[in-house]
Amino acid sequence: MSEGINKEHACAICGKTYQGESLVWDVVVASEKLPLAEIAGYKCENCDAVICDECSAENLKVSGWSGWEKTKCPRCGQLFGPGTVQVGGEVDSRLLESLKRDQIEFAAGKTKLIKGDFYTLLYGVIFIVLGVVLLQAEEMFFGYIMSILGVVGLIAGAASFVFKSPYVKLLEAADTFMLAVVLVAFGLTGTKMDLFELDIPPYLLYLAAAFFIWSAYDDIKEFLRINNKIQKVRKISIK
Ligand SMILES: [Zn+2]
Ligand SMILES: [Zn+2]
Repeated sequence: MSEGINKEHACAICGKTYQGESLVWDVVVASEKLPLAEIAGYKCENCDAVICDECSAENLKVSGWSGWEKTKCPRCGQLFGPGTVQVGGEVDSRLLESLKRDQIEFAAGKTKLIKGDFYTLLYGVIFIVLGVVLLQAEEMFFGYIMSILGVVGLIAGAASFVFKSPYVKLLEAADTFMLAVVLVAFGLTGTKMDLFELDIPPYLLYLAAAFFIWSAYDDIKEFLRINNKIQKVRKISIK
């Protein structure tokens, strides 16, 4: 029997045989999409050894940091991934079809990995309003800075709903990083806004800047993670 739902596989670790459909798919993406119970086993990209789901926990060391990137095959010792996920014999054929459709979408670059970012959108709107208030009060310098940050935030937030591209994350990172730079500049120069008569101690500005730098770093990490996933998914095909 060829690749199909009834194909039998023998686990390279425990020798147990199990049935499963081979879905040639990025393991990370698939494990996010599939209910865990549906995964019957995994196949090494290098030597085709199959590892049943029970043995995978102990024998496939998946790093919390780099995911499957550095996972070694217990049989051939080479890199295991991205590998093939084997979906269990009990799996609903409609689920399987929808997974295959998802894979085609991923391959076409229409990834669903980016979620619409409502907070960046909101932050963009708040900063634009703040910018307009400041400009009307003839606080031109702060007014322009806030408006620019607001517009970039609004574009990044809106783009996260429309484009579903990981580059949106870079735009978000740029916006929050600029905000951090502005806060540090305020702290160093002791600049104050006359309108609000705010006298914020510099350490609070630096604390807020540190938070925004961390947030920008997080966005860049997310960009790399998603981009990496997409690159992998584009390389593989459905059997
Ligand atoms: Zn096993
Ligand atoms: Zn192997």
